[in-house]
Amino acid sequence: MGLEVSAPWYVSQTEINRIVAQKRRWIERKLAERAQWREREGVGAMRFEDGGLIPYRGSRIRIAVCGAPKTTFLADQATLSLSLPPTAETTRIRETTLAWLVNQAQCVIGERLSYFENKTGLVPRTWRLSNTRGRWGSCSSSGSIRLCWRLIFFSDDVIDYVVVHELTHLKHMDHSVRFWQALQAILPDYVRAREKLLGVPAGELEF
Ligand SMILES: [Zn+2]
Repeated sequence: MGLEVSAPWYVSQTEINRIVAQKRRWIERKLAERAQWREREGVGAMRFEDGGLIPYRGSRIRIAVCGAPKTTFLADQATLSLSLPPTAETTRIRETTLAWLVNQAQCVIGERLSYFENKTGLVPRTWRLSNTRGRWGSCSSSGSIRLCWRLIFFSDDVIDYVVVHELTHLKHMDHSVRFWQALQAILPDYVRAREKLLGVPAGELEF
């Protein structure tokens, strides 16, 4: 697995090499954690072809490309039938799958958000899906919430954690003790869900 280092123009290669060498163990550990995660979630095996597997809500679903009249998901067989002919190119399969995933993210995340809004009385001014690299969610000081569509790859407890995390920011705009206490009052078991996300930046899930 390669490593890309970003540095400002005024930092010399020697300096970069020195820093990378210093941080070597940490970098190696992080890369290993990500590799394990990709393996576990089947993310490394994403193939946009008939029979290809993609992660979805904590499990894996199979892509079927056999000319279905419209794109449909059969939950019992965990199969996503795309409305594409068997001859469809990889790029079209990828685009159609992506469009379906983003649409599912909008529905599923939107539902979880409404559920917790009703439960807690915490309501953002607006919310929308985001595609930012390296952030699962954010909450602005004006009360707008953004949630990364790639959360749809994770089990619902992880989605709930990020949703509640951002809703809690409507009350506490920091990560103080009071913030975590408020979050725990809504989601007592949040630590386990949070651990599933650690070491997995949103941008890691290339799509
Ligand atoms: Zn936060």
